[in-house]
Amino acid sequence: MTKKILVLPGDGIGPEIVSQATKLLDLLIEQGLDVTYDNALVGGCSFDEHGVPLTDEVLQQAREADAILLGAVGGPKWEGYDISVRPEKALLKLRSELALFGNLRPALLYPQLASASSLKPELVENLDLMIIRELTGGIYFGQPRGIRTLENGEKEGFNTYVYSESEVERIAHVAFRTAMLRNKRLCSVDKANVLEVTELWRQVMDRVAKEYPEVELTHMYVDNAAMQLVRAPKQFDVMVTGNMFGDILSDCAAMLTGSIGMLPSASLDINGKGMYEPIHGSAPDIAGQNKANPLATILSVSMMLRHSFGEAQIADKIDAAVSTVLDQGYRTADIYTDGMTLLSTSEMGDAVLAALK
Ligand code: NAD
Repeated sequence: MTKKILVLPGDGIGPEIVSQATKLLDLLIEQGLDVTYDNALVGGCSFDEHGVPLTDEVLQQAREADAILLGAVGGPKWEGYDISVRPEKALLKLRSELALFGNLRPALLYPQLASASSLKPELVENLDLMIIRELTGGIYFGQPRGIRTLENGEKEGFNTYVYSESEVERIAHVAFRTAMLRNKRLCSVDKANVLEVTELWRQVMDRVAKEYPEVELTHMYVDNAAMQLVRAPKQFDVMVTGNMFGDILSDCAAMLTGSIGMLPSASLDINGKGMYEPIHGSAPDIAGQNKANPLATILSVSMMLRHSFGEAQIADKIDAAVSTVLDQGYRTADIYTDGMTLLSTSEMGDAVLAALK
């Protein structure tokens, strides 16, 4: 049956980078891939048009789609608005309403870009690490939360860090299954020496590990994990952690690769339906200039084909096409080095298409 993709370009550079990905989809459809796609508004542009960052209609379209491709949302224009209508709220709502609890963030360093990392090349050469972040629970969603006024008139902000056993269990299964497809090493990151919620996290991880005897499970405190990521990142294969720790560690891992414009991500539900997006934001500083790197969004399409549509061969071809354009010396401004050929966003999209053809 024809698969349906909902395309949500969003704000800032979102429309520029996503149109490179839809050019690619058009080519794949021409070559026989059985998918269709529709575009819709999300984020600040939806707020401008409808007064909310995500309308009920778009949420319904997202429910009905087999996968979602998102650009990025947000920008200075909407920063002053109440948190309930800020563009980022649309992402949180999509993730929680569609139960997209498993966030896969690869940190892969293309050998052609080894010099772009802030670490010494020998520390990051051939780095291939997958961070799995729980995305719909933990302190970002826990209740109660808010800012209250105490009896003495002072204000106090508070959030709740909470995980149920079942929430930890389902992300544990995603992590162990991912480790089984890779080098069978899983590091679970917590702060079990201080936080009871992560003491439970560790107990559940140990319990689920018994179902995956081939996977070597280790535990690491989050402060040590942050240190180890910048000291010797190649020691890791798959890391799994909660929402807030994962938010921070996955950005740190992304920087090891030297370019935020190269990294895709997937957020999956229990059945493998997913929302796919580059890890970067809407880059308001370069929006509308045809300068942004579209490769993370193009690689998000590859992840979509691999994880939601079971089209690993086409995904491999897209990954190879990206590698080819890097071999050809093509670079957008963010990954440009002397001697390379500087391309615009749309030229980079065309180069990937040419490599794929
Ligand atoms: P950002 O990722 O948008 O930009 C950080 C830096 O990286 C900027 O210098 C930008 O120009 C550069 N950059 C990002 N993507 C690039 C690309 N594809 N090609 C070349 N350079 C690129 O992060 P920020 O500046 O902290 O946030 C800007 C806005 O994006 C904010 O409103 C923020 O809330 C939002 N944001 C959205 C998402 C999302 O939609 N998932 C994620 C992060 C931030």
